[in-house]
Amino acid sequence: MKSPNNILYFDFYRNENSFVEVELSDGWMQLKDCQNASVRPLLIPLNDCSFNIKKEVLIIYIDKKKHSYIRIPKDNPSYEDVFSALKSESKPSSIIHSKIALLITGLILLLVATGFLFVVVFPSISMRFISVHQETEMGNELYASLVKEQKMDPAASEIIQEFANQLKLSKQYPIKVSVAISDEENAYALPGGHIVVNSALLQTLETPESLVALLGHEATHINHRHSLKNILSSMSTSFLISLLTTKGGGFAQFIIGNANALRALSYSRALEKEADHDGMVLMEKNEVNPKGMQQLMERLKESNNESSISRISFFSTHPLTEERIADAQQYISLHPFNNQPLKETLQENWRQLKLRVKTI
Ligand SMILES: [Zn+2]
Repeated sequence: MKSPNNILYFDFYRNENSFVEVELSDGWMQLKDCQNASVRPLLIPLNDCSFNIKKEVLIIYIDKKKHSYIRIPKDNPSYEDVFSALKSESKPSSIIHSKIALLITGLILLLVATGFLFVVVFPSISMRFISVHQETEMGNELYASLVKEQKMDPAASEIIQEFANQLKLSKQYPIKVSVAISDEENAYALPGGHIVVNSALLQTLETPESLVALLGHEATHINHRHSLKNILSSMSTSFLISLLTTKGGGFAQFIIGNANALRALSYSRALEKEADHDGMVLMEKNEVNPKGMQQLMERLKESNNESSISRISFFSTHPLTEERIADAQQYISLHPFNNQPLKETLQENWRQLKLRVKTI
């Protein structure tokens, strides 16, 4: 089939226009230069082409980058043939593409759904089946297996426990605080009530209010079952398997078997924010100035800057300190505190604790 030569071909690479004839054959389009017969015809696979119609002109981009194109006006006799050839050629390829896209989308959705199931749904379902009592028992066992590998300071632990006993930190959980001898400025909470504070962090703190803030923060992780949730989310797959294959003590055994991995877990930013906020609520309930939270953050920020090694996991796994300081400041401005001094017994414990950790 021949066509009159009003079909314009624009060659992007040569930046030149020429008039061409178009011939179609079985999935291909051949362009022949009308003016210069010595130019070799150009063969273009139709499924490389894309097209659109503007003002009754069929514009066919002949490469995937849509650089070079031909323009076929509607009055050209080959218009309809080329148009229908393009439609039938591009259809199957776009169907294949859309099938692949559909398959990929399906796979991604499946992965997201599975992830959601394991990370969000299963933990929250299994959390409902774990009573506070079971959680506390499990936390105790977990604590026992963790402290075997850590040096603890019984004297400092006793003082900090006395300090914590004077605060209302939890309604459901017995809060047990202990001091580990470690030069890592860190603290962590275990499900069911244990809080472990490293000696280096206590050495860093400057006010008893900032210690209350730290305990309030960690107690919130316990009260809101953040620690439990975290463990369940990160371990849910293998935990479920262990739950299905063992009875009774399966869960506790499983958790204890993974004790060290659990300690390295970090909380999400949202959970940290919540722990900071509700930590300050606890401070207020205990008539302790929530400014202690800001002091805690500022202290951590300073000591982090001093240290070239970024090893402070309490610090580094938490939301950006600047943001936490700003949040604390906002809370303080919204909750004016009548500046009564801290209970004398708390102050006394604080002084004892500072003396003790100096020697560690
Ligand atoms: Zn935290």
